[in-house]
Amino acid sequence: MTTLLEIQEVTVDFDGFKALNNLNFSMKTGELRVVIGPNGAGKTTFLDVITGRVQPSTGRVNFKGKNLAKKSSEHQIVNLGIGRKFQTPRVFTNLTVTENLALSLKRAKGVFKVLFNPLSKENLTRIENILERVGLASKALFPAGLLSHGEKQSLEIGMLIAQDPDLLLLDEPVAGLTDRETERTAALLKDLNQDHSIIVIEHDMAFVREIASTVSVLHQGSLLCEGSVQEVQNDPKVIEVYLGYPEGAIHA
Ligand code: ADP
Ligand code: MG
Repeated sequence: MTTLLEIQEVTVDFDGFKALNNLNFSMKTGELRVVIGPNGAGKTTFLDVITGRVQPSTGRVNFKGKNLAKKSSEHQIVNLGIGRKFQTPRVFTNLTVTENLALSLKRAKGVFKVLFNPLSKENLTRIENILERVGLASKALFPAGLLSHGEKQSLEIGMLIAQDPDLLLLDEPVAGLTDRETERTAALLKDLNQDHSIIVIEHDMAFVREIASTVSVLHQGSLLCEGSVQEVQNDPKVIEVYLGYPEGAIHA
């Protein structure tokens, strides 16, 4: 497997406060990587650096061998094959589930062209496949505003898949979901991992165990340790960082 993303000695400085501090991180194509760490560890900033929202003061971000730092706008980075899902769903509540997906398929074409032209057979089939995959086939014609919180999260994951990114970034995708929805999301991510590399930030350790992939622990803007869920949970450095939190409260 080849290296997909490599972050080399990246520092992000907010007026003297280092949200990321000489961070090194690397993942290979095809991986499903979980990132955890206490509040304020720099997890969201880590995603911001990958997507070009925040520019590092030093260091490099290489994606598919290309240096992203200081070069690319957020929009260009999307075109390079990186898709991001934010913590709160960002769907168009007045549009149907299908229309939301149609917009993501053809974002470049503009809202009116997409909504007032019939979908090609090929795009319709793609949307049907995505609906099936994220479990929303029965809600295809519902306005997105009528979906439950969990269904909106699934729709937004569907909207990301519609853009067919090489790398999917998800910030706390199961926050606020029921246990059943959390299980379904874990299964969905494992399914999506068959054709996308994924970084997921999550604090629900049951979910992290379910995904059972490599876990990277961030602390004070640096990589504290990396390994299997079990290795990470038994690592004295990790235990120390989370000391003071009640048992089971290891969170992202
Ligand atoms: P996490 O997602 O792990 O909780 P963040 O990446 O959101 O952490 O934040 C890391 C640290 O950087 C926090 O202490 C936060 O207050 C600080 N921070 C984040 N964004 C900014 C900003 N734009 N300006 C100043 N400080 C920031
Ligand atoms: Mg965060």
